[in-house]
Amino acid sequence: MKPTRQQEFISKNVLVMGAGISGIAVALILQKLGASVTLSDAKTKEQLKKDLSQLTSAGVKLILGPQNNSLLEKIDYIVMSPGISIYIPLVKEAKARGITVISEIEVAYLLCPTEEIIAVTGTNGKTTTTTLIGEMLKQAAKEVVVGGNIGFALSEEVSGISAEGIVVAEISSFQLEGIIDFHPHIAAILNVTPDHLDRHGSMENYIYTKEQIFVNQTAEDYLILNYDDEAVRAMAARAKSKVLFFTRRKVLDEGIYLQDGQIKISWQGQTTTIVSIADMQIKGMHNVENAMAACAAAFFAGLNFSDITKVLCEFGGVEHRIEPVAVINQVAYYNDSKATNPESSIKALEAFDGHIILIAGGRDKNTDLTEFMKLIQAKAEHLILLGEAAERFSAAAKKQGIKNIHQVDSMASAVNLAHKLARNKEVVLLSPACSSYDMFKNYEERGKAFKELVKALK
Ligand code: ADP
Repeated sequence: MKPTRQQEFISKNVLVMGAGISGIAVALILQKLGASVTLSDAKTKEQLKKDLSQLTSAGVKLILGPQNNSLLEKIDYIVMSPGISIYIPLVKEAKARGITVISEIEVAYLLCPTEEIIAVTGTNGKTTTTTLIGEMLKQAAKEVVVGGNIGFALSEEVSGISAEGIVVAEISSFQLEGIIDFHPHIAAILNVTPDHLDRHGSMENYIYTKEQIFVNQTAEDYLILNYDDEAVRAMAARAKSKVLFFTRRKVLDEGIYLQDGQIKISWQGQTTTIVSIADMQIKGMHNVENAMAACAAAFFAGLNFSDITKVLCEFGGVEHRIEPVAVINQVAYYNDSKATNPESSIKALEAFDGHIILIAGGRDKNTDLTEFMKLIQAKAEHLILLGEAAERFSAAAKKQGIKNIHQVDSMASAVNLAHKLARNKEVVLLSPACSSYDMFKNYEERGKAFKELVKALK
């Protein structure tokens, strides 16, 4: 059994930065454990638009609005929310004063009673892979909690697990900025592509941050790495743990790989075929990578191949990520509202053999559209555009020589037009390549609107 370190927080002064999901959860937990907690957010009460009465009645002190160094007086620990950089002046000053700065994930680790922690990071694919691993463990009737960057605060989730349970954690690079002892028994790094460089400063620093996921691992632990991603492959040289690579580009003597359309694992001299990718519900080669990483984690967690294979054949993906919605008159509708940039929409287009009616557009991020338009030309029969980006996308499509371009003013018009245009066996795909904020609260609301409109067509 892993000793928990709850006592470390008793009678300590803790400053929690950020009143988001994880900030609120961790403030309540630490206050309950006997710490004296202050929760600070740069937003005012009015800007936050949240009911914080639960915190005040628990005794948490709230300081909202502009932050300054007076917050640091008598503070022993700062717990950072993932939305706030550790490079801001206030945190630099805190470190200079010797205050321990940690992330919510580190708190979760200190409070967690089980050693069996599976942690997943990467630029893309975290939620899908984490969810898949969770489903595999549930299939095998394991006691499991899934949390992290996935809508549930891990520090809250771990309170419900026993010493025999397994924790599956989705970890963003922001959360890895604030770890000290965090030690997953199994860790996976899916990929590192330039993202969030505004916050991490450079690609080197971003890679270094991702590597924190295995920095405390020992020879008893496992590290799952993407062989096809050069930066991730190179991390093996710096790991103390046992490394297993996954790749869809070559056959490995030891590792997880794709051969003749099948995912196979070779480990300690034994090769097993896990699944044919034709039997999997989730689409696209990016999801083959996510599936391989999930298989590896489940394998090291001791699962039988039958449980792993069953989940891979049944798992329909996470909501809003190439999510099958309905088949109407032999036309399949997919919701990929989570695709808020062209790279993500390219992944979705690549997942189909063509014959696509693509609905795209939303709030324009002014990203380069060259590759995206090339692929639309190759794979789409019609391009339906909406939102603020419609004009620029339309101009880029015309420049690429795309013929069937339609501009509409609402999601309802987009769905109705797609329905009218679609012929047998074609695919209607919502993959906006834009954020949703021009017409919706968030990508979830956009995806839900699309799904309701599609279901109403029936
Ligand atoms: P994350 O949690 O890291 O944001 P998700 O599983 O939610 O990842 O997937 C978000 C989007 O990222 C998907 O819609 C897809 O376009 C893209 N994606 C998913 N997995 C991968 C992968 N392994 N490699 C590249 N892109 C991916």
